Amino acid sequence: MIKITQAPTGPVQVQQQFTIQGIASVEHVGKALTLVIDNIYRSQGPVVAADGSWEVNFIFTQAGDRRMRIEAGDESTETTVRVTASAVQRWVSFTNPPQQAETLQTLVLQGEAEGYSNGAQLLLRADGLYELARPQVQMEKWQAAIGFTQAGRRKLEIIGTGQDRAETFINVVTAPPKPPKPPRLSFTNPPQSVVADRVFALRGNATDYNDGDQLVLRADQIYELARPRVRDGKWETPVLLRGAGKRVIEIIGSEQDRAQITITVQAPPSSEFVVLPRSSWTNVPTPSNLATLQPKRITLHHTALSGAPSVNASQAQEAERMRLIYNSHVYGNGWADIGYHFIVMPSGRVYSARAEQRRGAHDQINDGLGISFDGIFTSATISNQQFQAAVNLCTQLARRYGFRNVVNPVPTPTTFGTRNLPLILGHRDRVATQCPGTEGGRTIRMPEIRQSVQARL
Ligand SMILES: [Zn+2]
Repeated sequence: MIKITQAPTGPVQVQQQFTIQGIASVEHVGKALTLVIDNIYRSQGPVVAADGSWEVNFIFTQAGDRRMRIEAGDESTETTVRVTASAVQRWVSFTNPPQQAETLQTLVLQGEAEGYSNGAQLLLRADGLYELARPQVQMEKWQAAIGFTQAGRRKLEIIGTGQDRAETFINVVTAPPKPPKPPRLSFTNPPQSVVADRVFALRGNATDYNDGDQLVLRADQIYELARPRVRDGKWETPVLLRGAGKRVIEIIGSEQDRAQITITVQAPPSSEFVVLPRSSWTNVPTPSNLATLQPKRITLHHTALSGAPSVNASQAQEAERMRLIYNSHVYGNGWADIGYHFIVMPSGRVYSARAEQRRGAHDQINDGLGISFDGIFTSATISNQQFQAAVNLCTQLARRYGFRNVVNPVPTPTTFGTRNLPLILGHRDRVATQCPGTEGGRTIRMPEIRQSVQARL
């Protein structure tokens, strides 16, 4: 005995799994049943369980009234299942498929998959034969990245379930051979200017070079400077350039690969400019109870004292002169200290007088630094050494106090009211006096000092 106890009561859809359950007599327990579809297709069916029950799970992929017979030896039972086409319309397609591609080019193909659920797997096939990808449907769309190794007119198919498929054609042409990527050298943040005879570093990238590859660093297309080795795609080397001027620097990997920069080499300063400390002429400090000074400008003076040391004077003679100026100001004028902050001797030596941080006594307003040329310059002109020293000193002070422009006139308080004056000015610009000698500071070369300082800032 074999009997169906449960089967679909209504139609099932293609691709939809359904179950048929039944029972068989005890003699069939443990034996496999045979499943026959449409009287044609025979396959092994389920094994009858110990309690005599059996169960068949099945899916039809084509619609129609489908006959299912279950045989157990000579006995059999049968049912007909009505299979209908999918209730959901399913439809796959390509969206804007490329007409042409090169071999080895990566192509992203995409399309619609209407009626498919997320995760449903499609098949992308070439030439009716080769599986290219199995894209999964997301939001009723599919996408796949593929590539062809063979040129020719190629058929592409996107295949869904059942009969659902779409096709397109693509002309695949052979890609021209690509030249090998050449290695490439470069400089990274090279300096525009350096000081002669001072070591500095040059570095750069050495793209597509191997670790240990040797490069040549060359100056002016003649002189070899260094042979840096590549490490991690970079090169670096210390360099020392001699002689001032513009130098062409090349990093060379091969005939085909070089990079070039220009560096200006500046002569090293012949001697560093120094201001001789107050201790070089006295042990007496500037009184600490004087008002502090935040310098706003520089006022130039002459000491207007006769007997200034000569340009060839010794430092000892100049120290003696400093003490004379001190006595003149402190015991002659009754001031706390020398009125100026610096004295520039005819030799070009510069002496620190009143402490820079203390308000001076030199132009009545005293909101700046006072620099005095030792001598009387009502007709005589300062020495070249004094001129150079003044330029050096004013440059140093302008940098120290952030004076960006010492040439352009700016509103300046004077005893005559506000006047437009440059940040480097003369005593007589602010106060009714002959100091520093002549109108406009001609004898102390004030316009030249301003221009020279400005050029260095
Ligand atoms: Zn003065």
